[in-house]
Amino acid sequence: MAHTLSCKPAWTEAFEVDTSLNDESGPCPTYVSPADQPICSFAASGKCPRGDRCPHIHGDLCSICGKHCLHPFRPDEREEHIKMCHKNNKHLEALKCSQEIECSVCLERVLSKPTAAERKFGLLSECDHPFCISCIRNWRSNSPASGMDVNSALRACPICRKLSYFVIPSVIWYSSKEEKQEIVDSYKIRLKYVIITPSAAFTQ
Ligand SMILES: [Zn+2]
Ligand SMILES: [Zn+2]
Ligand SMILES: [Zn+2]
Ligand SMILES: [Zn+2]
Repeated sequence: MAHTLSCKPAWTEAFEVDTSLNDESGPCPTYVSPADQPICSFAASGKCPRGDRCPHIHGDLCSICGKHCLHPFRPDEREEHIKMCHKNNKHLEALKCSQEIECSVCLERVLSKPTAAERKFGLLSECDHPFCISCIRNWRSNSPASGMDVNSALRACPICRKLSYFVIPSVIWYSSKEEKQEIVDSYKIRLKYVIITPSAAFTQ
């Protein structure tokens, strides 16, 4: 019974030679539109050893990553790649700049600290003074000098005295307001996640 499902009835086999002679008259069945063809993966990842003799489409050069990875016939994909490449590039730049940032309390480069736990910035919401997370947390948990208002002293930046209501831990420093906002936003999302997870919330 299963044999009746075969897509090729036995009787056509005898005529196969004949039909192949007519191939040129109909539309070419192997034609694939350029947008449906994948680009050469060698070129996309750097360099194609076949160069000009490569049978595959070579992508256009992405000026950000320097690879021939932009599909000439897929505008959406190009845009998507450029966006992603731009973001990655910005992230690398930010990471490089962050290496140089020193904590305003201990004056050490935050990302050169000996342990991974220490290699983290503590961002203040209201000013842009850089601190390592441990320095700013220590500052905020120490008793303030007598005569000062306890709460405002704890929340003030040790340098400019501006009040910040929270410290945002981050492994990266920022170079623009937008970047800072991005860090703060992603922290708030993570925070929300911690709060709705009861076990994590109570071990704080
Ligand atoms: Zn190639
Ligand atoms: Zn790229
Ligand atoms: Zn420090
Ligand atoms: Zn400050």
